[in-house]
Amino acid sequence: MARIHCLSPRLANQIAAGEVVERPASVVKEVLENAVDAGATRIDVDVEEGGVKLIRIRDNGQGMEPEDLPLALARHATSKISSLEDLERVGSLGFRGEALASIGSVSRLTLTSNHRDDSSEGSSALCEGRDMEVTVKPAPHPRGTTVEVRDLFFNTPARRKFLRTEKTEFNHLEEVVKRLALSRFDVGFSLRHNGRGIHSLRAADSTAERQRRVATVCGPAFMEQAVYVEHERGALRLWGWVGLPTFSRSQADLQYFFVNGRVIRDKLVAHAVKQAYRDVLYHGRHPAFVLYLELDPALVDVNVHPTKHEVRFRDGREVHNFIFSSLHKALADVRPGQPGVEVPVSEDGARTGETVDLQTGEIRSQPALAWGSPGAAPLGSGRAMPAGGYSAPAVSPARTAEQVRAYGQLHPPAAPLPESEAEEVPPLGYALAQLKGIYILSENAHGLVLVDMHAAHERITYERLKQARDAEGIRSQPLLVPQAVAVSSREVTLAQEHAGLFERLGLQVDSAGEESLLIRQIPVALRDSNVEQLLRDVLSDLAEYGSSDRIEAHMDEILSTMACHGSVRANRRLTIPEMNALLRDMEETERAGQCNHGRPTWTQLGLDELDRLFLRGR
Ligand code: ADP
Ligand code: MG
Repeated sequence: MARIHCLSPRLANQIAAGEVVERPASVVKEVLENAVDAGATRIDVDVEEGGVKLIRIRDNGQGMEPEDLPLALARHATSKISSLEDLERVGSLGFRGEALASIGSVSRLTLTSNHRDDSSEGSSALCEGRDMEVTVKPAPHPRGTTVEVRDLFFNTPARRKFLRTEKTEFNHLEEVVKRLALSRFDVGFSLRHNGRGIHSLRAADSTAERQRRVATVCGPAFMEQAVYVEHERGALRLWGWVGLPTFSRSQADLQYFFVNGRVIRDKLVAHAVKQAYRDVLYHGRHPAFVLYLELDPALVDVNVHPTKHEVRFRDGREVHNFIFSSLHKALADVRPGQPGVEVPVSEDGARTGETVDLQTGEIRSQPALAWGSPGAAPLGSGRAMPAGGYSAPAVSPARTAEQVRAYGQLHPPAAPLPESEAEEVPPLGYALAQLKGIYILSENAHGLVLVDMHAAHERITYERLKQARDAEGIRSQPLLVPQAVAVSSREVTLAQEHAGLFERLGLQVDSAGEESLLIRQIPVALRDSNVEQLLRDVLSDLAEYGSSDRIEAHMDEILSTMACHGSVRANRRLTIPEMNALLRDMEETERAGQCNHGRPTWTQLGLDELDRLFLRGR
């Protein structure tokens, strides 16, 4: 071994760069975050060859004074925090003071900036050489900053070898721009690749403009099949858009979660979201969402990882519970005739269920009642007794008169009905006939409704079984011979801490030594299940997320199977009153838009669509 010595500044920075600068996308992330921290309202990104040859990012933020340029390029130099207290409640995206130094050590970096509004005389800094000395000279620049990064990894061949094709690198980089565009609606962004315009996003101030941006970034199909969520509890606020279960994906590739404006990937968050979708999603499918969690910065530690993709919540359990219950409720409320999720109304009072035609940039309103569109808010209030003579269940007014009016404006019924009449037809309408013993055809204010009878009944039965269980409590039975389970001492402690949870679920678990638990009593419903494995899984959930829904999930699965067997089978003839009763039940049932396996239970064929089928002009 050689003698101990100090590393050159460049090498020290290159070591730091190893953590922060993995590829062109990481450079873009750091530089964009700096622009946002500088208060920019407009950011232009220009790259060549996937960002490997050139990344140039210009902002109109507050800029820097000439003497600050060398500091900006120095390691451990930042304007964003100065004490530990600042760090513990940091509001800016950056705070480590090492991004520019790291990038400068593995590329040819030029920083040009001007902090004055009244002059276009800025200055420019270039850092070079082993000691990273900086030369500053005057250069024209409007207020703001331009960072130019050329030839990334030109001096670190090992890193360069890990770069993928131009296209792959560009895709990563574009994803970074998209994430930032979703996190800051108030900032305009543009992205060019090899001289070609890829994205141009104006600052989005109104709800409609924000939804348009989300549709541009995530695809219009997502927006058409998403509901808007907004929930607040104590110091926690969650808002954003969640895809309907019927818009699930085979990959977890449309999931954006922001904590105080910072995009994060967090196991705890992922688990809470997954749990909320548990009952409505096909196995192996992934939900799509764009969600924003806002909380006091002091309650979340962002200094966990150099790239700040992870965070640590001071009270993880509370955050988990809040995310889960907010989303769970939002998804349960999505049912025909009852949009429990408030659909935002934009400034001009118009409903915001719009999509954007990406070709023309034109905003279109949603097709009336397309299931799952934010506009899928059928008129749920004040309906009359249907003709069949059975009793219609009581309905809580789903939306305000104002919302209903706005709805009517954007979605005029084909044959304009007087408002009072429109309100009398229940959301799923009145049954007309049964098709092939499988589908119910029904007429509502917008046209034809098609219902998969078995799928719908299965969901209704399942929700009823769950309700009955919740009302009666979980019946449990003692085991003839208590079952011993060997676990770690940490798991014994966890089981003791969560004894209340187990008890509520009908499970009695006692400790029987330092590394052993004893299952004494189990829910009747789990009689034939592998309770030992279930207990182990629950304990590992508790260790990781502070909560577990496995026992309920397992019991639900059993109920779901029972519901499936107990539901009307295909080819059973139903009378019109029976069909109507089923439609009314669907309107009253949580999650009635999907069967127990996540398939849709009904769909709407609007008059306009029928007209189109028959080439009928209006
Ligand atoms: P950090 O963002 O963690 O502070 P950086 O190395 O990314 O560290 O940036 C160092 C400093 O340079 C910042 O604290 C900021 O003062 C200044 N700076 C960097 N980029 C910009 C910019 N686009 N506009 C204004 N100031 C900037
Ligand atoms: Mg920074």
